[in-house]
Amino acid sequence: MSGHSGTGGRRALITGITSQDGAYLAALLLDKGYRVTGTLRPGGTPISAAWRLAEMGLTGRVTSVTVDLTDARAVSWLLDDHAPDEIYHLAAHSSVHSSFHVPAETFASNAVSTTNLLEVIRTRHPEARFYHASTSEMFGDAPEVPQRETTLFRPRSPYAVAKVAAHQMTTLYRLAYGLFCVNGILFNHESPLRGPEFVTAKIVRRLVRWQGGAEDAPITLGRLDARRDWGYAGDYVRGMWSMLQAGAPDDYVLASGCTWSVRDFVGLTAQTLGLRLEWRGKGTAETAIDLDSGRTCVTVDAALFRPAEVGELRGDSGLARERLGWSPTVDLPALVAMMVAAEKARQAAASAS
Ligand code: GDP
Repeated sequence: MSGHSGTGGRRALITGITSQDGAYLAALLLDKGYRVTGTLRPGGTPISAAWRLAEMGLTGRVTSVTVDLTDARAVSWLLDDHAPDEIYHLAAHSSVHSSFHVPAETFASNAVSTTNLLEVIRTRHPEARFYHASTSEMFGDAPEVPQRETTLFRPRSPYAVAKVAAHQMTTLYRLAYGLFCVNGILFNHESPLRGPEFVTAKIVRRLVRWQGGAEDAPITLGRLDARRDWGYAGDYVRGMWSMLQAGAPDDYVLASGCTWSVRDFVGLTAQTLGLRLEWRGKGTAETAIDLDSGRTCVTVDAALFRPAEVGELRGDSGLARERLGWSPTVDLPALVAMMVAAEKARQAAASAS
């Protein structure tokens, strides 16, 4: 890797620092000697903002600033005040499901904020390096499997449309103005810090409660056949950092290269917990029975289906492996084991207090 020489004393700005990726990235950058500033969105509650930083032991180690990134002047002040060497733009409306309910807000949050940051970099901070959090959701109804940097985007949600706009704007500023702007096209990545609005954290949380006898009602899920390429967030933030250390800016896919269904994820979680589940029925009548108790543990609710679903998402991260030396270290069974262990510890601590 060339480009930046030592990282000691460098300044990093992470938008959306209280997100899963923000917390993992902040920990990585602090370890490398960066000074880290992170943005919080106005209106977020202090508790929801702080828990991930606390879990990572980062409380008091990063500077936090509340800023509305859709406000161009506020973005200008932010960059003038903190003069970051590297900017990691992770802040976004990140739930695909809820983006169907708030499309305009999603577009402003994801596309306008990115444009504001790029414009301030162009006009006032052209030396800053910029990472934009693109996403595999942009591939949508993808014309090829696996998807790579050259695959056509056919977005299938307001979230994905907004991310395509932000992605293209980032590429444009690189090509038109020669700025160091990159897109990381990250496939789904999970961890013990994942929020319960995502299917992996929901399944882990509910099945741990089920196994501990704290849950009687079946877990209700949407499409069990949906397939994703799931990796570990800790691996993916390492890739983000590598993209900004490269000799030249470019866009990279980060993915595990393996694909699993939501049903597979339930099965892996159950297996990790020692639960014996059996799938019965088809479509919306499909259920999973807990063979030891004979009770229904999982049901399907069509209300959780999305108005449009993406096709099979499986990424080819060959370019990142070749040019950045990046590769994932945690496969899905290991990731599930990590999420289950953390959730058990969390639930044990909550019931002890
Ligand atoms: P996404 O890839 O960013 O949308 O991540 P999610 O974890 O929200 O969803 C992954 C896949 O799981 C999607 O295809 C969903 O349709 C599917 N899915 C099935 N049941 C559920 C559920 O109960 N909650 C969520 N969030 N997704 C579900």
